[in-house]
Amino acid sequence: MKLPRLKQMLLCMTVIVTAMMMPVGVSAKSHSGSADRKFTLCLDPGHGGKDFGCIGDKTNEKTIVLNVAGKVKKLVEKHLSDYAEVVMTRDGDYFVTLQGRADIANKTHSDLFVSIHVNSVAKSNKRRRSIAGCQVYTLGLHKTADNLAVAKRENSAMELEPEDKANYSDFDPDSLEGDILFELTQSMRIDQSISLAETIHNNLVTTAARKEMGVRQAGFWVLWATLMPAVLVELDFICNPDSEAYLASEKGCDQMAQAIYNAFSSYLQTYGPALLQRKVEARRL
Ligand SMILES: [Zn+2]
Repeated sequence: MKLPRLKQMLLCMTVIVTAMMMPVGVSAKSHSGSADRKFTLCLDPGHGGKDFGCIGDKTNEKTIVLNVAGKVKKLVEKHLSDYAEVVMTRDGDYFVTLQGRADIANKTHSDLFVSIHVNSVAKSNKRRRSIAGCQVYTLGLHKTADNLAVAKRENSAMELEPEDKANYSDFDPDSLEGDILFELTQSMRIDQSISLAETIHNNLVTTAARKEMGVRQAGFWVLWATLMPAVLVELDFICNPDSEAYLASEKGCDQMAQAIYNAFSSYLQTYGPALLQRKVEARRL
């Protein structure tokens, strides 16, 4: 093991251990604010600007995910504004680095990070026009080639920012160090992340009628670099013409946003501010 990488690892472990000492579901912001502070949801519409993400016949990933994220934000502001606020890593068609996305989530002390994406498979894949379904990822070791391919594609945004490449030089999900860091990072927030991933996945199936492809794990850089429970959602496959038509429609985006909002609302009732939990309890009596 090289010394710089060891140093980096120790630094990361210090950050992780410090974060582990905080109460579950509470970020640093609550220590200076009131007990009934708002819960901060960081929404991360993937790609943007020069990075189109996956391309379909008629539209592209960066446009769809911005539309869906904007609708989730509006739902939270309409129904949950007493308890929660939304931070967006981008609110227009411009490029944000992966590091920039993690910085926004970390510097705003967000309580939850939801990265929104659209899936695709290679042109050579025989199932390209028929594959369909939603996947929701938490950070972990990719156990299948399919999961690895998705993580590689989403991480590839770092190749569009060569001047910042140093930021990512120590991220190697396949190394022993990466393995140890994943274990440490996961043990802290994995329960919340998996709980949210399952709820989003189930809501995409019931509310947005997407085919179920399951909750999975893979080495996504943005999930690794954010210091709060975090998931990455792949809504459906843009390479499938039927799915693309749905992803591109306002009705489809409304339903997918409703699915993510429903899941967030459930999460908030379990892990959110004490004020909200008390109100939910009172309603149950
Ligand atoms: Zn993407």
